[in-house]
Amino acid sequence: MKRTKKLLLAFLIPAVLAVAGVASCEKKAQGDGGARQSSPQIDRIRKADVLKVGVKSDVPKFGLLNTATNQYEGFEIELSRLIAKQLFGDPDKVAFTAVTAKTRGPLLDNGDIDLVIATFTITDERKLAYNFSTPYYTDAVGMLVKKAAGYTGLKDLNGKTIGVAQSATSREAIKTAADSLGISVTFMEFSTYPEIKAALDSGRIDVFSVDKSILNGYLDSETEILPDAFSPQDYGVASKFANKDVAAYVESLITNWLNDGTIKGLINQFGL
Ligand code: GLU
Repeated sequence: MKRTKKLLLAFLIPAVLAVAGVASCEKKAQGDGGARQSSPQIDRIRKADVLKVGVKSDVPKFGLLNTATNQYEGFEIELSRLIAKQLFGDPDKVAFTAVTAKTRGPLLDNGDIDLVIATFTITDERKLAYNFSTPYYTDAVGMLVKKAAGYTGLKDLNGKTIGVAQSATSREAIKTAADSLGISVTFMEFSTYPEIKAALDSGRIDVFSVDKSILNGYLDSETEILPDAFSPQDYGVASKFANKDVAAYVESLITNWLNDGTIKGLINQFGL
């Protein structure tokens, strides 16, 4: 009897100590915003020694490729660099790929990029195909028109043609707003924003519609952004649907940075 008790203790004490040790490590990892988390998916990124992020190249203050320096700059670029810093201890270990509304999903699906941080609006439909973090920014759909046209808002656009990007949320947002005003508009879809701007300049369309942040990149002396704003657009960091560990890791970082003011600081830094 005495021997059995001794044996039991000999096994139990190390087991209890081991469990306690694991628990304290886990607590530490959570305190770091999950930064020390490890999993095969995250280890694969660490092994590659670079975080591959799909960003916009034509959205000032969010993701813009500065042609003078050949460097990306903006809020979403800095967010990518912060994630790389957590992963590798080095914010420069990030490779940017320019994406559009049409290409960002397929690039995630085929594994060319690890994350999309590119004005990607969180929608219920998209959540069925990709993981999204908690929103880090909220924009709204707007309209860019020629100043000379004299439009003041959507109410003046009955019978007009609106240019939108394929795979963007803009068409549905404008359609819903037009329906509620009782006016009818026609849509023309394009694959890139420069094509929509060219169509506006040449008069093929009357309005270029997308999120206001994106329209800012196409504003010039001949055009203006109307004050109307439709359908809030919550931007989230997206990852491949199967990469749940990557999504959980990113989520812990984003929520930490929302709570500790890091994201607010970046929003202020870029004057958003
Ligand atoms: N943010 C909108 C969307 O996700 C506009 C398109 C874009 O981001 O390029 O559909």
